[in-house]
Amino acid sequence: MISVSEAEKTILAHTINLSIEECPTPDAIGRVLREDIQADRDFPPFDRVTMDGITINYQYWKNGQKKFLIEGVQTAGSPPFTLQKPDSALEIMTGAMLPTGCDVVIPVEEITFEEKDGKKFATINTPQLIQRQNIHAQGEDRKKGDILVPANTLLSQAEIAVAVSVGKSTLKVTQKPKIAIVSTGNELVGIDETPEPYQIRRSNSYALASALSKIGIKADIWHLPDDQQLIEEKMSEIFRDFDVIITSGGVSKGKKDFVPWVMEKLQVSKIFHRIKQRPGKPLWFGKKDNKVVFGLPGNPVSTMVGLFRYVMPYLREIEGIERKPLQFTVLSEDFSFDRDLTYFLSVKIINKEGRLWAKPIPGHGSGDFANLLDCDAFVELPAHEKNFLAGSVYPLIPFRNI
Ligand code: AMP
Ligand code: MG
Repeated sequence: MISVSEAEKTILAHTINLSIEECPTPDAIGRVLREDIQADRDFPPFDRVTMDGITINYQYWKNGQKKFLIEGVQTAGSPPFTLQKPDSALEIMTGAMLPTGCDVVIPVEEITFEEKDGKKFATINTPQLIQRQNIHAQGEDRKKGDILVPANTLLSQAEIAVAVSVGKSTLKVTQKPKIAIVSTGNELVGIDETPEPYQIRRSNSYALASALSKIGIKADIWHLPDDQQLIEEKMSEIFRDFDVIITSGGVSKGKKDFVPWVMEKLQVSKIFHRIKQRPGKPLWFGKKDNKVVFGLPGNPVSTMVGLFRYVMPYLREIEGIERKPLQFTVLSEDFSFDRDLTYFLSVKIINKEGRLWAKPIPGHGSGDFANLLDCDAFVELPAHEKNFLAGSVYPLIPFRNI
């Protein structure tokens, strides 16, 4: 049996290659960029006016002139005017290019306008002006040719905005892995079926698929009975079409736990089986060619620990996202666990005075998936400690937005 950190390291060392594809930029949220995005122009591309008001040549105001003849109005989206007389002004709007001959913008709130003999004048009321105030200078943010977004960035709306502004209508991104979710178990029936007294409805596949859909992956779902022959036949078909296969159930030491056996028959190399942890000890991990199998134990809480602690980071890794250090949280109450196993404690996250506290809600073991309704995350309690004191800091594995 290996430790949690060895399991993590081993899993991340067995990556598969995903191809690169073009994605329309407006649809690229949550995808992983596989090219650099460069600035095609300066940011901003011209001296951009940031207030509605007037613009003048600063020297005239500095020399004592307060009243200026308005020569015209420059709105956003029109070519820049040139000041005809250097001691005049132009009305100017936010987003317009700074007119030639002007170097300061005075907001409309600091100006009195008057009209006389068909001419319009502006008097500046403020006692203080700073040259180039209210002008967002060309190239101040980024220069033409700069790399704005490097490859391997997970795309958010910020990157989408920048990509479209440099005229990229499509982006090179990592293809999403094709994922199959396969649950096993004779005791499990479908959503619409009425379970016999000794049966339950299967839920793991839907928990797994829902979590994956949040990261933009649409997984395909199968359910197989605990039948060696059938599992082998179906799995060999599934294997052909998918990159990542996540099974649930059938990896423990029971008489009907056929998943490891079937994987061996299909020549999937076992990388490891079993991790020194609770819940989720029987996890099986294997690889064949450019495909991997996560054999998650069927107890629903174990399945979720396996998903969030190992599968999710693996998916980030193969998509090319930079590794993220673990987040941490503070235990709000003492907790004890005296086995030599890493314990994944279910917790509720409480935000108190800007700090995230984890309140233990241990539930009734790995089958108690209703307990997760009251929880937000798992806290990873190390194997070598037994008493975990309130105020101590431990890694946090959130399964909800907190
Ligand atoms: P197994 O890992 O197959 O030994 O299953 C362990 C426990 O988890 C058993 O009580 C199963 O009934 C339960 N279980 C397995 N798969 C599922 C599932 N898809 N949904 C809900 N419970 C499951
Ligand atoms: Mg089973």
